[in-house]
Amino acid sequence: MRKSADDPEIEEPKKKKVRTSFGPTPEVPIGLVWDSVDYSCSYDSLFTILCEICIYNPRNWTKAFYTFSNQGKLLADGYKKVIRSVDTLENIRNEVCRSLKHDNPVLFPDGATGTDIRDLLYYFFTSDHSVSLGYRRSSCIGCNNNHDMDNPPERVMSVLDGTYKSINDWLQHWLEEPSICDCGSPTIIKRIYDQPPSILAFSLNTSRVAISKSIHIKGINGRSTILPLRGIIYSGGFHFTAYVITPGKEVWYHDGMTTRRNCIKKGHLNEFTEDALKSCREKNSNGAFFERQAVTVIYSKK
Ligand SMILES: [Zn+2]
Repeated sequence: MRKSADDPEIEEPKKKKVRTSFGPTPEVPIGLVWDSVDYSCSYDSLFTILCEICIYNPRNWTKAFYTFSNQGKLLADGYKKVIRSVDTLENIRNEVCRSLKHDNPVLFPDGATGTDIRDLLYYFFTSDHSVSLGYRRSSCIGCNNNHDMDNPPERVMSVLDGTYKSINDWLQHWLEEPSICDCGSPTIIKRIYDQPPSILAFSLNTSRVAISKSIHIKGINGRSTILPLRGIIYSGGFHFTAYVITPGKEVWYHDGMTTRRNCIKKGHLNEFTEDALKSCREKNSNGAFFERQAVTVIYSKK
């Protein structure tokens, strides 16, 4: 039998995902408390989502995080300490922040300036570029020419174009772009991942694209990988908040300023439309409702 991790379309025997016991209530995601001195909300949102991903299989995710960046290593090692109750998520966040500030004090400033979530995503997921994730290739049937091109597949993608219906629609076009070969024949430029990706992050620069509940990636031999939605970061009013989605598709809300270490259950993912997920209306620290827009979306294998 083939390894099912490569091919979710082949049903594996259903194995219940076990959450590493963690926090006061094992089944509830744990969030990070906002730091009012060095504004931490972009880190709080991202690391709350990544923790909830990591917690179901710390060993495998540690290996994956190690390939992202130095900060990925720090975070994965930190999560393990938190699981063993020898450290707190906030300490781990501060350690990762110090490392980012050390690497790049302009992108990752101290104090109330805050960090652009896009910079954090790119830096965290892709600063270790030693390994290429795949290739981008034009294969023309007209002239029988294959050639590899710039811009191979990545782990973080920017969606700038609001003409696509959803993130998955955008992704399909990005993986297989229609083009015209030099010989005049219509061709398709494909992006192919060497290995099915375990996690992909999307940075949204448009509020028009709906938040797909899963994305599909065609692999090297046409087999499809499906990655479910695991987190959404919302931005507005100079603050970031997050939805954390468990493998069981429960949606939890986190705001390091108001819910602090807690996450608040919002319902099952089935109760949300992909359009509704584009924004999030919740109470601010002053008690008034405030609507924020999705700026970052994370998909990962379970
Ligand atoms: Zn051609």
